[in-house]
Amino acid sequence: MKLISFLAMLSVYMLLWACHQPAPRVQNAAAMQAQESDTMSHINIALNQLASRVDPVCGMNLNEGSIADTALIGGKIYGYCNSGCKEEDLKQRSSKKK
Ligand SMILES: [Zn+2]
Repeated sequence: MKLISFLAMLSVYMLLWACHQPAPRVQNAAAMQAQESDTMSHINIALNQLASRVDPVCGMNLNEGSIADTALIGGKIYGYCNSGCKEEDLKQRSSKKK
């Protein structure tokens, strides 16, 4: 019976995480690690917050969950498929500036 209540708690926890509502307490280290690695590989940002739904460097279509990095440029948020694209974009923009 304990296993069932644990699974129930786990699914509630995952539902909360899916809704981007941080759980009030992290109850075990495994959950904490999963959370950390998720933030490192993906950024939770809604597509409608982005200035463009396409990576400005490589032209890849961005989906929620595939955005690895973002940059705030001129008050607009741009999303990138990886941090290399972000660096490339920042480099290009700064070299275009006069
Ligand atoms: Zn890219």
